[in-house]
Amino acid sequence: MYPTLQFLIDGEWRNGEGHGEPVLNPATGASLGDCPFADEAVLDDAIAAAATAFKSWRKTTALERARIMRKASDLLRERAEHVATVLTLEQGKPIGEARLEVIYAADVIEWYGEECKRAYGRIVPARVPGTRQMVMREPVGVVAAFAPWNFPALAPIRKMAGAVAAGCSIIIKPSEETPATCLEMARCFQDAGLPAGVLNVVYGQPAFVSEYLMKAQVVRKITFTGSVPVGKLLMRQAADTLKRTTMELGGHSPVIVFDDVDIEQTAQALVAGKFRNAGQVCVSPTRFYIQQDVYEPLVARFAELAAARRLGPGLEAGTEMGPLANPRRVEAMEAFVRDARENGGKVMTGGAKHGNQGFFFQPTVIRDLPDTCKLMTQEPFGPVVPMVPFRTFDEVIERANSLNFGLASYTFTNSLKTSQAVSEAIEAGMMGINTLAVSTPETPFGGVKESGHGHEGGIEGLEAYQNLKFVASA
Ligand code: NAD
Repeated sequence: MYPTLQFLIDGEWRNGEGHGEPVLNPATGASLGDCPFADEAVLDDAIAAAATAFKSWRKTTALERARIMRKASDLLRERAEHVATVLTLEQGKPIGEARLEVIYAADVIEWYGEECKRAYGRIVPARVPGTRQMVMREPVGVVAAFAPWNFPALAPIRKMAGAVAAGCSIIIKPSEETPATCLEMARCFQDAGLPAGVLNVVYGQPAFVSEYLMKAQVVRKITFTGSVPVGKLLMRQAADTLKRTTMELGGHSPVIVFDDVDIEQTAQALVAGKFRNAGQVCVSPTRFYIQQDVYEPLVARFAELAAARRLGPGLEAGTEMGPLANPRRVEAMEAFVRDARENGGKVMTGGAKHGNQGFFFQPTVIRDLPDTCKLMTQEPFGPVVPMVPFRTFDEVIERANSLNFGLASYTFTNSLKTSQAVSEAIEAGMMGINTLAVSTPETPFGGVKESGHGHEGGIEGLEAYQNLKFVASA
C-alpha cells in the first residue's frame, strides 16, 4: 500500500543511493519506508532536466497544457482512495479529511488548467500613431518549491499545478515526513502525458536542498510554505540571485465572537474547524476573543464539545481527530500548556498526551490567559485553544492586530454592520465572516505582515508564475 519512495527526475523514477530517513506512521510511530535524500549529483540532474524541459514546455499552447492537466486531475480523482490512504498513513489525519484534501487537490489541477487559457495580456493605446504597445505574460522559468507536512496533497499541488499551467518547469521538495502523497500526484501528471523534466520531485536534508537550488541561476522562482523563520532564511538566500518569491508562512488567526451570535451553532462550527487536522493548519482559528456577555456559556460549550472529540488512528472508522504529525508537535503542545498554566491560564479540558503509542495529544481548551503568553503570541499548530474575553470593538481589533502575523482571521456576528467594520479593520490576507472556510482553488490564498507575501489560488496564483513583458513596436 505505501509506495517505494523514489525521486522523479527527467521523467525517470530513481532510487536513492543509500542515505535517507524513515517515514513514520504518526498513529503508531512505526516506519512506513525509507525516504531517499538527494545529494549534489541528484540535484544537478534535477536542475538540468528542469532547465531543458522549460525550453520546450514554455512553447506549448495553453490548450495543450490544459488538456494534460485535465487528464491528471481525472487520474487523481480515480486514484483518490489510494492516495488518501497513503496520506493518512504518513500524516495521520482522519481518512475523511484526507479524501477531501485529495479531491480538493484534483480540483486545483483542473482549475489551473482551465485558467491558463485565460492568461491574457493587453494592448495599451499608443502615444504615437502607427505604433503598438503590448503587455504579454510569460512563464517565469524554472521553479524551486518547498512544501510542508501538514497538507501533503494540497500544499505541493498548489505549487505544481500553478507552475505547470503557466508553462514553467518545477523541482519540488515535499516534506521528507510526508513524501509519498506528492509522489503519487506526480505519477498522475506523468501518466497524463506531462513531458519529462517539467515536474521533478526530490527529497533531502531541507537546508542542503534549498541552499543548493538557491545558488542555481537557472532557478528563477522560489515558492515556500512553512514556518516564518525558514521563510525569512529563504528570502535572504533568494536575494543573492534576486529570485522571485512566494512565501506562505505561519499564522495566528484571531477569532472574534460578538455577543449577538447563536451560542450552540457557533460552538459547533468552531469545534469542527479548530480540530481539523488536529489544528495543524496555517489558517487554523487560533486566538479566541469572545465578547463578555457570551464568554461563560461559549467557553463551557466549546470545552464540552472538544472533550467529546473521538481520537484515534486516521484509518479507524469513527475517528474525529488523528495524531499530530510528528513527535516535535507533541513536545511543543506540552510546552504551550505548561507556559499557559504558569501564566494563570485555566485548563478546561485536555492538556496532556493521549494513549501510549503514536503522537496523540488531547483537544485542549485554556481560558483566562494573558495576551502576552506563548499560546497567544506564537503559532501553536496543534489542538490547543486559548480563549479570552473582550468588551469593546476597538479593544478587540487592537488586540487582534497586535501580532506580526496576518494570514487568516475570523469573526462571528449577526450584525452586517459589525462584520463589515471588522473586515475593514483587521490586518490579514483572508477573513471569514461566520465561516472558517477561506480556501478554494479559485480564490487567492495568502498573508500579510510576517505571514508572507504572494498568493496561491485564484488568478493571482497563476500570475505568481508569470513575468510581464512590455513590447513596443513601430
Ligand atoms: P521547521 O520550521 O523546521 O519546518 C517547517 C517546514 O519547512 C518543514 O516542511 C521543513 O521541511 C521545511 N524546512 C525547514 N528548513 C528548511 C530549509 N532550510 N529549506 C527549505 N525547507 C525547509 O519546523 P517544523 O517542526 O517542521 O514545523 C514547525 C512550525 O512550522 C509549525 O509550528 C508551524 O508554525 C510551521 N509550519 C507552517 C506551515 C504552514 O502551512 N504555513 C506548515 C508546516 C509548518
